[in-house]
Amino acid sequence: MKIHEFVRQPQAWLMAGLSFTTISQAAPDPNWIEHDRARPQPPKVEPGTFSSADQPGRPPGDAVVLFDGKDLSQWVSLDGTPTQWIVRDGYMECVKGSGYVRTLQNFGDCQLHVEWATPTPPHGEGQGRGNSGVFFGLDRYEIQVLDSYDNTTYADGSAGSIYGQYPPLVNVTRPPGQWQVYDIVYTAPRFDADGKVKSPARITAFHNGVLIQNNVEVTGPTSWLERAPYKAHPEKTPISLQDHGNPVRYRNIWVRELGKPGKKEFTLSNAVLDNYAGTYEREPNSLVKIVREDHHLVVTLEGVRFVMFAESPTRFFAKTTDVQYQFPEGEGKPDHVVISVGEGGMNAKRVR
Ligand code: MG
Repeated sequence: MKIHEFVRQPQAWLMAGLSFTTISQAAPDPNWIEHDRARPQPPKVEPGTFSSADQPGRPPGDAVVLFDGKDLSQWVSLDGTPTQWIVRDGYMECVKGSGYVRTLQNFGDCQLHVEWATPTPPHGEGQGRGNSGVFFGLDRYEIQVLDSYDNTTYADGSAGSIYGQYPPLVNVTRPPGQWQVYDIVYTAPRFDADGKVKSPARITAFHNGVLIQNNVEVTGPTSWLERAPYKAHPEKTPISLQDHGNPVRYRNIWVRELGKPGKKEFTLSNAVLDNYAGTYEREPNSLVKIVREDHHLVVTLEGVRFVMFAESPTRFFAKTTDVQYQFPEGEGKPDHVVISVGEGGMNAKRVR
């Protein structure tokens, strides 16, 4: 059978063991015919420049700059308090015992650029030498940062591994002290309403320009000693860098969000969220309860539960319905919250 006959005969696909699903997943958007002149042009993006050993490059025009060598304004500790990591000479450095740093902003599917350098002269052996890590899903999915230049450890824990799951395809680690680059494409896992995995996380990564992870399927949170199962979490989460006790340095960190642009969202500190938690009264005998669950406020309104996402330190939105909450600016427990649902707005005063 010639190739064009094969393509036109679905029976032949089935005989070849291909399903219609496999084929339709690979199909271009059916809303456009081939070479359709009405199809929108891709957005123009000003390209950046590559880094040299001494000089970090310029991020592409549409990137969110997470660290440009000046300050840690985009970063906090995991619980949202200020970090103890230090900034010096254009880089940030992990301070032993200070904990992970995470971004204030949340990211789902994205392209992340990170440059890192392990301490020179090197100290320690194996996992103890220049260990840090880049995490997606807040602190769930780690791409290992390690001094793997002249340092042997288990393969699935070396530089560029998806920790405990996938060794890098090759070891392209530079000597300690030299700047190295990770370019990572992350696809967030998706969960259904019952918390079951609809699609797992996927990672593609380049280390110093060389492919080291080719669209691998992450099996669950990366962890030591076990293959942990997935637990449902929001699609967008902060990105973190690990404190593993070694003074690893980072510079030139930027991210490009992939897919449809949504509202910007942030993970506020537990202390700020706890401050908003309470019982508010919409009208006599109509109470609204606001509680914190993990890193989110959860509101029960007329018996319906809404997970709220922060778009600013005082403003929250739900993703399932057009519900918004605006707390007043200022210190101390808020005395009210303005709730808007669809077109209507209402003032609810705090009673507890
Ligand atoms: Mg690590």
